[in-house]
Amino acid sequence: MTTALITHPASLAHVTPPGHPEQVARYRAIMDALDAEAFDALDRREAPICERAEILRCHPAEYVDRIEAAIPSEGTQALDADTHVSPGSWEAAQRAVGGCCAAVDAVLAGDVTNAFVAMRPPGHHAEAARAMGFCLFGNIAIAAKRALDEHGLARVAVVDFDVHHGNGTQDLLWSEERALFCSSHQMPLYPGSGAAGETGAHGNVLNVPLDPMTGGAEMRRTYDDVILPAVAAFEPEMVLVSAGFDAHAADPLANLNWTTQDFAWVTRRICEVAGEVCDGRVVSTLEGGYDLDALGAATAAHGTALMEAA
Ligand SMILES: [Zn+2]
Repeated sequence: MTTALITHPASLAHVTPPGHPEQVARYRAIMDALDAEAFDALDRREAPICERAEILRCHPAEYVDRIEAAIPSEGTQALDADTHVSPGSWEAAQRAVGGCCAAVDAVLAGDVTNAFVAMRPPGHHAEAARAMGFCLFGNIAIAAKRALDEHGLARVAVVDFDVHHGNGTQDLLWSEERALFCSSHQMPLYPGSGAAGETGAHGNVLNVPLDPMTGGAEMRRTYDDVILPAVAAFEPEMVLVSAGFDAHAADPLANLNWTTQDFAWVTRRICEVAGEVCDGRVVSTLEGGYDLDALGAATAAHGTALMEAA
């Protein structure tokens, strides 16, 4: 079995204003990193445009209309202080959702053991009716809903190791008792949510805030002692991952001190737990990561760990 890599050059046409950290060059850095011979065995697939109905699993129709209507014919348009769209953003956003859905389908069909969806815009900050934090649609929450509602899984877990709290995923899965959402994140930091006391409508949300400057050793303890036991106890039939690489020490937007090897470690451990409870079924999707060199290296480490587990 193998690992799918799901991408599309439409990600290059989602353009943000000059100097914006969530930039086109991020996609190039990842593609360059995954172009090495070590990744020849990846099952490379194109992210399809999703059906509108997929987005509607998590977002109201008027919100989807509002995003589509905001797409400019040239230049960029601000949706809030951080979040922008350009003429190519609509296709890119639909392919980001479509890639995550295709990853779920491929893993559940048994075509591949696991999958990594490297698309932008990212998704974990997008709430039901609010674009924010560079995100338009809740890519990973939509994928979770597809796994539950379309494929009939009884339970899925979402693990979010991006340095920022996945407020959007939390919002979209808050009342979904079939989904466990676990997030480690720096606090205080944008978006400000993610306190340990936020536990979901059914106890299905697990937030583990980390102090600034937390390094890999404490992160590993957090995963070994808190997050991974919770995932295992939930007995998910698939594990979805919001893979943000901005907890890296080199990242300009945050102050955690994870190393490239820490991203390999957390990926391996997530895959090990998935191996114990759900035949290794893991769907991972790109979220943040803003130092281009660190992003490339950490993504390569993530991809390598996924391939070793497949
Ligand atoms: Zn982030």
